[in-house]
Amino acid sequence: MGYLKGFTISGKQFFQKTVTTQYPEDKRPKPERFHGRHVLNRYEDGMEKCIGCELCAGACPARCIYVRGADNPPDAPVSPGERYGFVYEINFLRCIHCDLCVEACPTEAITESKLFEFSFTNRQDAIYTKAELVVDDDGNPKHLPWEDWHEGDDENTSGWVRATAPSGVAAAEGRPLWSGELGHGVRPAQLGQSDPLAADVPADFDISIREVKDAEMRGAGVARGRSVRVDEGTDAPGDGGR
Ligand code: SF4
Ligand code: SF4
Repeated sequence: MGYLKGFTISGKQFFQKTVTTQYPEDKRPKPERFHGRHVLNRYEDGMEKCIGCELCAGACPARCIYVRGADNPPDAPVSPGERYGFVYEINFLRCIHCDLCVEACPTEAITESKLFEFSFTNRQDAIYTKAELVVDDDGNPKHLPWEDWHEGDDENTSGWVRATAPSGVAAAEGRPLWSGELGHGVRPAQLGQSDPLAADVPADFDISIREVKDAEMRGAGVARGRSVRVDEGTDAPGDGGR
């Protein structure tokens, strides 16, 4: 009679709600901070954010980023400032999607989409170049023919929510620390570490990390474009660290 008991269990399951999904046709929403395929962002005016500083390549533990900077042509600059990323390559056979490159980037040029459904048939194709990484004119990642983009995969890709209190400064806690960008990039900060209401910042509230540094970080100021410590008891930025 044991087999009847087994059939009963199977029969009950038959009428239960299905928990499997028909992947890849049906995809479950990915977590907001999912680490997927990278993008190289641009400013609202179309200028590239990458300045070719190579900090991302230096921070990458898998040694999968190759960057070469070049001087901006004065008559047709690619990025604001002196230099831009002339060559930018990521080898996705090596990348472990740790996002240390994103953390290291001073201009929020490199961030990640939520796309992980892409594959290659040879090693060369696994190396994404600038032509594939730089976002389109509308600020969205390029949808390449060998990638399987679904709704939501390209949301919130062009900005990066940094730690709620960069450098441990309480004034920055609970603030959305990224710059508004082409179509994306403005969303509430994550829940603060001590204030349970810190996440209730309106979605259209935007403050750049530069603003926070200039005006809100207690004990810090900016002199000649650099962050410096402010000496106790004075309003003028000190020389700290330079
Ligand atoms: S996510 Fe990590 S492994 Fe991938 S390129 Fe960035 S630093 Fe390197
Ligand atoms: S992506 Fe960022 S860290 Fe990497 S070279 Fe460009 S500006 Fe520098």
